[in-house]
Amino acid sequence: MIVSHSHRLAEGVVELVRQVAGPTVPVAAAGGLDAEQIGTSPERILEAIRQVGEGDVLVLMDLGSALLSAEMALEFLAPEERQRIRLVAAPLVEGAVAAAAVLAAGGDVEGAVREAREALRPKLDHLGEAPAGATTVEPGGAEVVRVEVVLPNPAGLHARPAGQLVREAARFDARIWARNKRQPQRRASLASLNELALLDARQHDTLILEASGPQGREALEALAALVRAGFGEIDPPASPTPGGDQEAGLGPGGAAVAGAGPAPAEAPAPPAPGTVLEGVAVTPGVAWGRTVQRRRAQAWTPQGPDRPPEEEWARLEAALHQVAAELAALQAGADAAEAAAIFEAQALFLQDPMLLEPARRAVEAGQPAAVAWLEACRATAAAYRELANPLLRQRAADVEDVGQRVFRRLTGQAADPAGERLEPGTILVVDELWPSDVAWLRDQPVAAVCAAQGDRTSHAAILARSLAVPVIVGLGAAILQLPEGTPGAVDGLRGRFYVAPDDGTLQALAQRAAHWQALERRARNEAGQPAALRGGRRVVVAANVGTPEEAREAARLGAEGVGLFRTEVLFVGRPQLPDTAAQEALYRQVAQAVAPHPVVLRTLDVGGDKPLPQLAPAQEANPFLGVRGLRLTLQAPHVLEGQVRAALRVAADHPLRLLLPMVSTLDELLTVRRLVEGWREELQAEGVAVPPVALGIMVEVPSAALVAERLAPHADFFSLGTNDLTQYTLAADRGNPGVRHLADGLHPAVLRLIGQVVEAARVHRRPVAVCGELASDPEAIPILVGLGVDELSMVPQAIPTAKALIRQLEEAATRDLAREALALATAAEVRALARQFLDGLATKDGEGPGRPPGGD
Ligand code: PEP
Ligand code: MG
Repeated sequence: MIVSHSHRLAEGVVELVRQVAGPTVPVAAAGGLDAEQIGTSPERILEAIRQVGEGDVLVLMDLGSALLSAEMALEFLAPEERQRIRLVAAPLVEGAVAAAAVLAAGGDVEGAVREAREALRPKLDHLGEAPAGATTVEPGGAEVVRVEVVLPNPAGLHARPAGQLVREAARFDARIWARNKRQPQRRASLASLNELALLDARQHDTLILEASGPQGREALEALAALVRAGFGEIDPPASPTPGGDQEAGLGPGGAAVAGAGPAPAEAPAPPAPGTVLEGVAVTPGVAWGRTVQRRRAQAWTPQGPDRPPEEEWARLEAALHQVAAELAALQAGADAAEAAAIFEAQALFLQDPMLLEPARRAVEAGQPAAVAWLEACRATAAAYRELANPLLRQRAADVEDVGQRVFRRLTGQAADPAGERLEPGTILVVDELWPSDVAWLRDQPVAAVCAAQGDRTSHAAILARSLAVPVIVGLGAAILQLPEGTPGAVDGLRGRFYVAPDDGTLQALAQRAAHWQALERRARNEAGQPAALRGGRRVVVAANVGTPEEAREAARLGAEGVGLFRTEVLFVGRPQLPDTAAQEALYRQVAQAVAPHPVVLRTLDVGGDKPLPQLAPAQEANPFLGVRGLRLTLQAPHVLEGQVRAALRVAADHPLRLLLPMVSTLDELLTVRRLVEGWREELQAEGVAVPPVALGIMVEVPSAALVAERLAPHADFFSLGTNDLTQYTLAADRGNPGVRHLADGLHPAVLRLIGQVVEAARVHRRPVAVCGELASDPEAIPILVGLGVDELSMVPQAIPTAKALIRQLEEAATRDLAREALALATAAEVRALARQFLDGLATKDGEGPGRPPGGD
């Protein structure tokens, strides 16, 4: 029964209900005071109740006095009659339709009432407006709790955090789902890694977590805390590259596969001798040899008699168990935590309903298990490839890899490519490199590995870094067209494949190889020595670190101090900001690790690509141009005070300097200088003898570079943050693969800014460091040194090679190189010039070029 202030509205709802429920569910309207006047009347309600006849009556009302009139109408009824009337608090239109649908389908009154009350849920879900912390009821009657939580991870909900959610969820007796508020109609079970990853949740997306069951609430608390803490992830993964955007078609592994990924629309022509293919360098080194192509066949024909579905399913279950054991062995034998985590995440696919359920349906419909399983994997891999997030797109390879492992078991093949042994000197060419391939390749005498697809962020690329041979990915489909046995050369330093290179090219590559090997050797032997140019000028080579462990590693690798201590790393993944004493202890550990060298401690640099949930700025349309770095800490001076006080206490016994991130105006610097001086005086008064501490600024905003000469009198040193300086100068987001080709710190515009900062610093005798990625780029080092930079600070692993390279440089030659670079128009031109310069160094070095073996 429909009660509304409007006669026409009540009639309209009745019409809708009849549409849904047909004539079987009696429905009557009590709208308006009469056909024209707005209002509700108990008499009309009583009349409508009588119209619908015997049995239970559900009364749905619109607003305000409709409830009062309905209640009054009930007063006029005899008690036994009143009992069959239920006033239902439900949205009028949605509730009426939902209740009628239940009754028409033969449901009982209780079910109809429940559905009516829940009738707003689909709309709320669709629009992503379901209230946080709300409790609702599932169609089956179970209570559902929900929370909303913002995803802070720069790389989004990629495989590793998704895996953590699945593992954490499994600890609770609850059914749990997640939705991405951007597309709330899609619901992912927390039992399925794939479903979760396919939510395509990106940084700052809101996840809606829902749970039912005895431990639903507890589960949501734990899961929400995990998300808020960013899953303990610290650094965003390296920027992806465009090479990963292509579709998979072929692949390594040598097994015949039912339905590999879609092949490229048109096969490109085989590249001609002399062609140079450009890809993404994963593992350095130079090698030559002959190509061996590995590709998957496009079809698989089941062998042997048909088996009943139960038998096929049992075979699939057995294969899944065997592969779980294989992956557990790979995980246990992994040489790094990162590698172990990759196989651990892969193992989750084996229990994933998103793969198992479609496979089960297909088996029940009579498909062989091998085909059913592979189809399910293929569909999921295809879904990954559709995603916008390049990091998640790379997960397609993981699904296919696991799919292939299980498939090999089901089709009676060995776990790894059939005990095959590659010939020494083989350049293995694959469509896409998979984690299992890397495990297999470890014992193969290959000279190099080249993949048509892939990216530096793929799991296989991460694992491949531990291979001793050059690996290049993302070379493009053309490499797959090379006839077997084509002679080729691989330059894993620059990411290049040379098709049938001529003698001159081989000679040059041989020189490069010899030079690189010599450099490596020398670098390792001399890592502990300082680095100076041939003319004697010293260049300090320091480390960028985020933790005491990294600082210890840096000291082992020859770091002359910490040039950039990213303190935000210590703040990530903690429920609360660490207090001053805890910070002091951590800062002291870093200082002790590199003593007697200095530590440059950067105050908290959060916001932009490094959000910290405990200290989040308001939602911003452009976080990179918003309240980040120093801007954020100046808005939370207690955080700055805690950090600076902790640092000053350490400065009492260790050489420590303070560095401010994202300075864009002089006022910011002056404000902090006053604050720091005040805190130092307070500490002195408390009896802590703190010497004056150098206060420097990051130059990573073009405005700071452009007014460097006005900042220099007030800053004790400059540190060029070329990652941000490049993104702001070229208006190219440092994390966006779509503009990666623009965000090159060797662009002359960035170099000019660096040159200007060095000039300004020289006038005021201020030292200048570079602490962005550019500082460890071999093509950039001679130019930066030529521009007059005093210090390079970089990832610890790059230190030995950078020092070795610096030792080969001549002062005058690097100055000329820098001058020439400044006059160029593009980053590509600068890189070409830098390569020429490095080749010249290699030739001069005379590390015996030698004729490479294996070339024609
Ligand atoms: C930079 O921007 O170059 C820099 C070193 O700072 P971060 O990468 O931490 O933003
Ligand atoms: Mg920066």
